[in-house]
Amino acid sequence: LHDRDGKIWMDGELVDWRDAKVHVLTHTLHYGCGAFEGVRAYKTERGTAIFRLQEHTERLFNSAKILRMKIPFSMEEVNEAQRAVIRANGLESGYIRPLTWIGSEKLGVSPKGNRVHLMVAAWAWGAYLGEEGMKRGIRVKTSSYTRHHVNITMTQAKTVSNYTNSILANMEATDDGYDEALLLDPAGFVSEGAGENLFIVKNGVIYTPDLSAGALNGITRNTVLHIAKDLGLEVVQKRITRDEVYIADEAFFTGTAAEVTPIRELDRIQIGAGQRGPVTERIQSAFFDIVNGRNPKYAHWLTPV
Ligand code: PMP
Repeated sequence: LHDRDGKIWMDGELVDWRDAKVHVLTHTLHYGCGAFEGVRAYKTERGTAIFRLQEHTERLFNSAKILRMKIPFSMEEVNEAQRAVIRANGLESGYIRPLTWIGSEKLGVSPKGNRVHLMVAAWAWGAYLGEEGMKRGIRVKTSSYTRHHVNITMTQAKTVSNYTNSILANMEATDDGYDEALLLDPAGFVSEGAGENLFIVKNGVIYTPDLSAGALNGITRNTVLHIAKDLGLEVVQKRITRDEVYIADEAFFTGTAAEVTPIRELDRIQIGAGQRGPVTERIQSAFFDIVNGRNPKYAHWLTPV
C-alpha cells in the first residue's frame, strides 16, 4: 500500500504518497494512543460523494477527546481534507482513512508536550468481507477473545490500540477457516464483530446489542436504525446472548468497510435458512440506495467531493 503514486493529506498539506512518513520513535507506534476513522465515498448520479462525512469527523474528534488528545485542525478542515484526498487521487469511490497520532518529540508513557498529527489517505476498496459474502452470507465464529471492557481502553473511541483485540479475534477466526469473529463482552453477552456491529432478526423484529456491551457506536448501525424505521420494522436494542444468534431467523454485520453483510452461520450452526434472509436483503438494498444517492430523503448524508 505504501509504494504507489498518489497524494496523502498530512498535517495540512497534500504530500506525495511515498513521502507520507513518520519517525520510528513516534509515540503512537510505541504505546498505541491514537484514533482513526474509516469513511467511504460512493459514486452517485451527481458525482462522487462521501457518506455521513460530518458524523465520521465528529466521531474522530470525540475519539481524540476521550484520549485527551487535541487535534490541531478544525472539523471543517478535516472534512475538507477528506474531500481533497478523493479528488487528488482521482477516485470515483473509495475508502478514506483519517488518523490522528502523537509525535516523536519524546518517549515515555506520558505524551504531554508531544505534537498531535493528522493524516488522511484514500484508496479503492471493494466489499470488505467479499462480494460472495454480500450475497450468500458469511461464516462467523464466536471468538475466544473478549471485547474490551467499557472501563479499560474506552469502547466509544475508535482508538488504534483497541484494534489489537480485533486483530487477534479476526486472525483466530480466519485461521480456523471462518470469515470473521464475533466478540462477547466480559459478562458473556454479544458485543460486536472485529470491525462490525451485529444485528439479528427474529419473528420480524430486529435486535442489536445496546452499547453497554462495549460495541462501537457504528455509523452504519445508526443508518440501519433509520432504514428499519422507514421500512416499518421494529428494532430493539438489548443484551443478546450467543444462543439467541444461533436461533435467530437472520443475522447480519454492519460497518463502513463491511457495509451490510449477511451472516449465514455462527460456530458451524446454521442461522435461519443459511443464506441472506429477506429482511437483511431489504435493509441491504435500502442501504445501497442511500449511499449511492438513490434515496432523496438522505441526500443530506452525501457530501459531494
Ligand atoms: N465496530 C468496530 C470495532 C469497528 O471497527 C467498526 C468499523 N468502524 C464498526 C463497529 C462499525 O462502525 P461504522 O459503521 O461506523 O463503520
